[in-house]
Order: sequence, then structure tokens, then C-alpha cells
Amino acid sequence: MSATPEAPVSVPIADLDSDDLLGSFAEGRRLVGTRCGNCGQTMIGSRVVCSSCVSRDVSRVPLPGTGVLYSFTRLHVGGDGVRAVGYVDLDDDVRTLADLREDATPLRPDAPVELVVDGDAWFFTPVTGA
Ligand SMILES: [Zn+2]
Repeated sequence: MSATPEAPVSVPIADLDSDDLLGSFAEGRRLVGTRCGNCGQTMIGSRVVCSSCVSRDVSRVPLPGTGVLYSFTRLHVGGDGVRAVGYVDLDDDVRTLADLREDATPLRPDAPVELVVDGDAWFFTPVTGA
């Protein structure tokens, strides 16, 4: 009886708490996504298998830097004032929870939003004039 060789253990889903969701692409710094070559599903984060069809034919892709605000809320946080968070539907059928910032254009559901990268921080803000 032969011993089973040590095989690498794959992790089906990246650890979204420790993996950096920002990546550098030809388009600039974008949120990292994974696209399935079998079913076409796009997912947020780096993955080794498709969460829809379990295919291993997946590739790392930049997610779109624009989307639509699906829903949001404002949190009153001690010391930091008010923080807005919400779900953004990216232009690639990916919904993600994100920090939100608003300047002159107030947040509202269905508003077009765009990704802003500031150092290692990222958030979405309403598209000015939209
Ligand atoms: Zn798939």
C-alpha cells in the first residue's frame, strides 16, 4: 500500500476579511473580481472555483468602477459622526456592500455611483450631476 502524497489544499472562497479587494489592472485600481469561463458568472473577490457552477475555469478580472446604489443607511458612530454604507450594484451584475461618501450630490436609491480609491481605502460616491 502506497502512501498518499501530500496534496495542496485549495480554498474555494477567498477570505474577504484578510484578502485585499483592491487590485491593479490596466484600467487602474479596481475591485478584484473572478469571472467563470464556464457559466459566465462574475463574483467579487479572488476565487478558485465558481460559486455558481463549481467550475475551476475562473479568471481574475477588474470589476467595473461604476454602478447603481441599490440601498443605503446612515450609521451614527461615536467620534466619527455619521457613516453611510450601502449595497452597490456594479455594472457587472455584482452587488457589494460598500462605504459611501456624499458631497454636493446626496445619496439616493438608484443613483449612479462611482468607485473612488484613496490609498488603501475605497468607497463609492454619487456621480456628480447625474
Ligand atoms: Zn460558473
